[in-house]
Amino acid sequence: MRDPRYDILFEPVQIGPVRTKNRFYQVPHCNGMGHAHPSAMAGMRGVKAEGGWGVICTEECEISPLSEFSPYVEARLWDERDIPALQRMTQAVHEHGALAGVELAFNGYSAPNRTSREIPWAPSNTPVRGYDPIQARAMTLADIKALRAIHRAAALRARDAGFDVVYVYAGHDLGLPFHFLTRRNNRRDDEYGGVLENRVRLLRELIEDTRDAVGDRCAVAVRLAIDEQTGPVGLSKDSEGTRILSLLAELPDLWDVNVADWSNDSVTSRFAGEAYQEEILTGIKSLTSKPVVGVGRFTSPDTMVSQVRRGVIDLIGAARPSIADPFLPKKIEEGRLDEIRECIGCNICVTGDHTSTPIRCTQNPTMGEEWRRGWHPERVQPRQNDATALVVGAGPAGLECARVLGLRGYEVVLVEATRTLGGRVAREARLPGLATWSRVIDYRLDALSRLTNVEIYRESETGADEIVEFGAQHVFISTGSVWRRDGLGRAIREPLDAPGSLKVLTPDDILAGAEAPSPLVLFDDDHYYMGSVLAELLVAKGVEVIFVTPAPDVAAWTHNTLEQGRIQRRLIEAGVTILPSLSVAGLRADGVVLNCVYTGRTKVVEAAAVLLVTSREPVQSVHDSLSGAPERLRDAGVQSVRLIGDCDAPGTIAAAVYSGHRAARELGEPAAHLAMRREIIMLAEV
Ligand code: ADP
Ligand code: SF4
Repeated sequence: MRDPRYDILFEPVQIGPVRTKNRFYQVPHCNGMGHAHPSAMAGMRGVKAEGGWGVICTEECEISPLSEFSPYVEARLWDERDIPALQRMTQAVHEHGALAGVELAFNGYSAPNRTSREIPWAPSNTPVRGYDPIQARAMTLADIKALRAIHRAAALRARDAGFDVVYVYAGHDLGLPFHFLTRRNNRRDDEYGGVLENRVRLLRELIEDTRDAVGDRCAVAVRLAIDEQTGPVGLSKDSEGTRILSLLAELPDLWDVNVADWSNDSVTSRFAGEAYQEEILTGIKSLTSKPVVGVGRFTSPDTMVSQVRRGVIDLIGAARPSIADPFLPKKIEEGRLDEIRECIGCNICVTGDHTSTPIRCTQNPTMGEEWRRGWHPERVQPRQNDATALVVGAGPAGLECARVLGLRGYEVVLVEATRTLGGRVAREARLPGLATWSRVIDYRLDALSRLTNVEIYRESETGADEIVEFGAQHVFISTGSVWRRDGLGRAIREPLDAPGSLKVLTPDDILAGAEAPSPLVLFDDDHYYMGSVLAELLVAKGVEVIFVTPAPDVAAWTHNTLEQGRIQRRLIEAGVTILPSLSVAGLRADGVVLNCVYTGRTKVVEAAAVLLVTSREPVQSVHDSLSGAPERLRDAGVQSVRLIGDCDAPGTIAAAVYSGHRAARELGEPAAHLAMRREIIMLAEV
């Protein structure tokens, strides 16, 4: 039963001509599926509608080849041929009584049109965003007229595709109307440039056009970034942000207010806590009588209620919390708060968009798999027989495997060598900024506590003999991995020799509390978070850190999680010396020999220690001794032994959870991985 404190979250809200059944609003979010995988996109959105979200939006939706977002894969409504694909989504959403929204987007100089080769448009002549060596051209008045016609026609197509909420997009320093708003992008001296009233003109016209075209049936929403968080150079709430909103206050049916750019809008938990946009959102409602939606990685219903009661927002906007738990609203409605799978704020979901591949999520391994593998976030197929299972190792892979096997009805025993459950997550969550990651463990331990058919044994190091003796029919080995001490990885291909007095450390040593002498060379050939969080940790302990990476910048892969800029800034501000584009050629008693990745030229950096963050070795000893004795296994009745997670191949926490989940789903079922559903391109007539 629902706690009456949360009743307010389930009140309907009128948005222009449409009414949402509750205040849970999935704001537009990219997913790497878009127009290339429309059924998968529809399946993912449909599951969220089933989970109780009142409004479900698409990601950015291209409206013309004059602004297409390749290589990013987004939704598409170039012409009427794109309608059926999006209809699939609106139908999936409507089936569960939710409203469907579409974010019509024309991104001007932010989209270099790599596929269509059209010249991008901008308020004034300017290079395109990123490093493509081309420029966008200043729009003529005829272009502006054409853009209005394009947007209007797209709004009509959106209505025909069944959408209830149609967006005009002026967010993230991406949408062209935003470029017109900002002085640094708009140097025009006609009626679309100069004073703010002129710079607002295009956005005003697009809202009016959209209303005129579809406003009788669809709500018109505006997504506006009112602050770029760049100080005086950019738009800020206090300078023109609030004035823009005031000038247009009553024009749309809904205000979706946030910040630019995307890295400021989707900040990871390493850099910001829940409700981090409250300061930006405060006061917006006093400017307009229209409903306001805002985000802030909300997972706590109390925070949501507080934001609504204090008049900060009307609708609880969520992208990531809806990805981590598509059933979040249902769980609040049914009083199952413990069961909420809280987003950990890692932005693995964002990496799908950045790598143009289907979305994935650390907490929710079914994300993106709803259609192609038929995985549901809350339901699994019951077991087909009464086989028993033993899971060895309680890291993220083992915990998830045991949880899903348990849900399926198997009798499961989970054994863990140490006293602590959670494996690498338990250790890493103690590192600076990563505390929220422990939700990966919390969610699973809570779920396991409700499963009477799963037993957990701590401090139970288990080897081949114990496994054979135990005699479960199915064994899952999730014994994790260890960081290499010899430097092997991407850049170093021959093991390093460690001479006398130089201390050689690995992340495992630091996580286990080893002392690090100063100065210390940290060689990061992993390029994700580990190197930089260890640098932060060591600096806080007074160690002088020299951060060496073969990449041009620190933590290079975190461009994909929108964190790279913040990480580099933090290290610079912490006084870490950063030496990019260098590898390690050798170790000496008094320091480290570095070599330039371009020229091979070497130099010596004096140090008392080197910390090697390069690659990990899977811990497969248990598995190896089992596979060496097949007859013992047969005699003991063991039918299958499967490696899962990092001990199969070390990777992200998301990959370990996924691996455990998949192995548990596939037990006793035909392996579906090779036959997953996919959309085949329809051949055009020649
Ligand atoms: P993954 O990310 O694949 O889940 P982790 O390294 O996080 O891997 O977790 C592996 C877990 O397995 C750790 O908690 C570790 O203590 C445990 N473990 C390793 N070897 C054994 C073993 N022989 N018996 C029981 N538990 C083990
Ligand atoms: Fe949250 Fe991480 Fe999942 Fe994204 S991938 S929804 S940030 S848990």
